[in-house]
Amino acid sequence: MEEKYIFLITAIILYILVVYLFSRLAKNREIGPRRLFWISLFLTPVLGLALLLSSHELKMKPYTEQNYKCERCGYIFSESYPHCPFCEKEGHTQELKPVNKFMT
Ligand SMILES: [Zn+2]
Repeated sequence: MEEKYIFLITAIILYILVVYLFSRLAKNREIGPRRLFWISLFLTPVLGLALLLSSHELKMKPYTEQNYKCERCGYIFSESYPHCPFCEKEGHTQELKPVNKFMT
């Protein structure tokens, strides 16, 4: 009788450990490891796996910012000017080229 009890405890601990390790797979997923852990614990890891696979991978959303670069001096402006103000002072009329700057 006591042997069965120990076996049951061991099985539960192993089950939680497996579910815990499994939930860590959701680290970079939309579902998240904590939610997956509880779902897998109470609704079996089979359902957890289905949710993990259907969950989208988290992606860094890069957004671009419109900037204007002077090709002569290399300075990047956030506003558009008809000509580069720095180069204009030096007597050059350099047009600004629109560039997309990646923001992180
Ligand atoms: Zn310039």
